[in-house]
Amino acid sequence: MRERAAVLAEEPFCRVCLERGLQVASDEVDHVVPLAWGGRDDRPNKQALCTPCHEAKSKAERAEARRRS
Ligand SMILES: [Zn+2]
Repeated sequence: MRERAAVLAEEPFCRVCLERGLQVASDEVDHVVPLAWGGRDDRPNKQALCTPCHEAKSKAERAEARRRS
C-alpha cells in the first residue's frame, strides 16, 4: 500500500483529466496496461486517476476483455 500512496503523492491530479486541462484530485491508482493483459506491477505502469475516470477505464477494459474472449 505504500506504493499506492507514493503514486498519489507524485500525481495529485487525475492524469486523464489533466490531459483535458482539468485539475481533478486523484484517488485511484490504475495500471496503464491491466495486469490481466500482461501489464507490469511496477511504477512506470501505474497512474493516478480520479474515481470517475478509473471507473470509465475499467468499464472499457471489461468490454474489451469480452470482445477478446
Ligand atoms: Zn479524471
